[in-house]
Amino acid sequence: MKSLWVRLLAAIQAAILVLFLVSCVAGTARPGKESVYRPGEVGTDPDTGHDTRIETETEPVTEPSTGTDTEAATETEPAETVPPDVPPEINYDVNAHLGSNTVLIDAGHGYGDPGCTSKYLKGEYEVTIAYDMACLLRDELNKRGYQTVMLRDGESFPNEREILSRAKDLGMFVKENNINENNVFHAYERTLWADVMNRDTPFALMISLHVNSLPAAEEVRGTEIYHCVDNGCAAPSELLATIIEEHVRSDFGVRVKREGTVWSDSYIVTKWTEMPSVLVEMAYATNQDDAKLLFDKEWRKEYVGSLADSIDEYMSKRG
Ligand SMILES: [Zn+2]
Repeated sequence: MKSLWVRLLAAIQAAILVLFLVSCVAGTARPGKESVYRPGEVGTDPDTGHDTRIETETEPVTEPSTGTDTEAATETEPAETVPPDVPPEINYDVNAHLGSNTVLIDAGHGYGDPGCTSKYLKGEYEVTIAYDMACLLRDELNKRGYQTVMLRDGESFPNEREILSRAKDLGMFVKENNINENNVFHAYERTLWADVMNRDTPFALMISLHVNSLPAAEEVRGTEIYHCVDNGCAAPSELLATIIEEHVRSDFGVRVKREGTVWSDSYIVTKWTEMPSVLVEMAYATNQDDAKLLFDKEWRKEYVGSLADSIDEYMSKRG
């Protein structure tokens, strides 16, 4: 009997080792995996081609034990010590966005994380382009009568401990071990901050702006739009993403890809947000023609105009 248990244990350990090795080879850039950012290094997702820098900010794959495990249970059921990555129970008003005229704009990266770059960006990084585009979108939306909030304003952001304590005061579900207090405003903290502000004053939507990168295929260009199809605001997020897809395609005639992903595979800024949310990879830093556009002041204005038109249309259709 004892030898059966030993063999069972050995088999489970071998299976875990195989799964670990497979995940190392196949999934290095998927959400939920951690990687280390090195300045000047360009990260791309081999599956989707989009830049992975925001995924350097993902949550750890392990969580604290529930404290109910026995020694035997942890030895014979190691998989259960890592809870599955599932959506938290919804405990917020998923329709709060309907009465709001305020748009939350998230300029990607920042706080020591410059995002992607390429030889075509001449020393420029995604972080500054995204911020400039976010400011232009803010100004355009303000002109059209919207209220706007910038998730980050330049390089300043709230203290991580303050975000955590406000989230707890609001009774929010918090993955506390993701609050790392290292003064890097990673994607989970960024999203929790968005959700905390949203509980105070609901946002109509959140739009996150990024620049894409695919050094292995420089011919790839255009816009990619990501949204989560598996959370409390999946339907309005999909509507918003679809409208942006149509506007950008007809305004610029470039390749536009929309990707709706299930909760576990979605970007953190789209899967945890308690409001309609999209992430827009506006153009490719690694494509020479796209890079030229990214430096073109007129294109920048036209692009945020297209996003603002999309938001106008979304607001008229959101119900
Ligand atoms: Zn990015």
